[in-house]
Amino acid sequence: MGDEVPRAVDWKQLCQTKKEQYNINCVWIIMVIFVAMSTLLDSGVKPYNHYGAYLKEKYNGQRVFKVIVDGNFTCPNRDGSKGYGGCTYCNVDSFTPDTARKIPSIREQVESGIERARKSYAAEKFIIYFQPNTNTYAPTHLLKMMYDEALSIDPENTLGLSVGTRPDCLDFEKIALLESYTDRLDVDLEMGMESIHNDTLERINRGCSHDEFLSAMRMLENTKLELCVHTIFGFPWETEDMMLAYAAEINRQKHIKFVKLHHLHIVEGSIMGVKYKREPFKLFTIDEYTDFLAKFIPLLRPDIIIQRIFGIADRELLIAPNWGYPKSKIQTHIDKGLESRAVKQGSLYFG
Ligand code: SF4
Repeated sequence: MGDEVPRAVDWKQLCQTKKEQYNINCVWIIMVIFVAMSTLLDSGVKPYNHYGAYLKEKYNGQRVFKVIVDGNFTCPNRDGSKGYGGCTYCNVDSFTPDTARKIPSIREQVESGIERARKSYAAEKFIIYFQPNTNTYAPTHLLKMMYDEALSIDPENTLGLSVGTRPDCLDFEKIALLESYTDRLDVDLEMGMESIHNDTLERINRGCSHDEFLSAMRMLENTKLELCVHTIFGFPWETEDMMLAYAAEINRQKHIKFVKLHHLHIVEGSIMGVKYKREPFKLFTIDEYTDFLAKFIPLLRPDIIIQRIFGIADRELLIAPNWGYPKSKIQTHIDKGLESRAVKQGSLYFG
């Protein structure tokens, strides 16, 4: 039996075969990634730390719902103590005197909020959320009465207290009051930072500088409060670099636990709304905003939890930008856009 003579290698054909194999492998890998992506999004896993997953894990899968309470507060840049008219993008009854606002009692609001959440969302547990206006802008003893009342309606099912405020409406007494609830509840303080640039803060009539934000951060440094910072992206005079710089400023404040990231939207009843109608200016499209987030999120500290990733306004109030989707579709569109760009929170954060 003679040895079989090896045939000369047909490199051209071999390369072609390898190339086809490579292409097939690539297609498979892309398909696997695509399926994994869809599965991740469908299962609620996102390329960033998101609040829904955080709540689920923290409260053992119970359905937790925020019940919004309007404490009939105002703001120092609306009532004249620092200015009038409020922040120019804000519509909170901008043209309605506070004395004319008719809102139900705190008890009625909490009771109906809980009932609605149970019926519509099968909610089991609740976080009482003092949201509209500045919810620490009153003497401490009055704040205590309001918070106590709201928390007393369904104490067995109330897990937390969330309070939205401004950096210039805090002092050690109010912080101590909020901390006094932490023996039985999770308490988060939501602070409007909006921009880190004083020029912007002046232009939007914020009535509060970034230095005041930083001194509030220092007051809160060693407290038991969980801190959430609220930002707005897309002021037409801010460049991309100016907006990306927010990330480093947030990262520096190690006690920030949550962020709410908003795009600038223009609403009826706001000063910006009046200006925009007269002379429209450039706002983010949904894809431009997703592109921006794809650059911002990798810069953000990986432990920070993102409570919200875009701004939400009532359809009847929204002037622009109208992205043409309901809220859930906007969320999915952004999440899928971030996935397709292989975004990972904190991947460009180098502590
Ligand atoms: S954005 Fe906040 S601080 Fe500014 S006016 Fe509106 S409620 Fe007040």
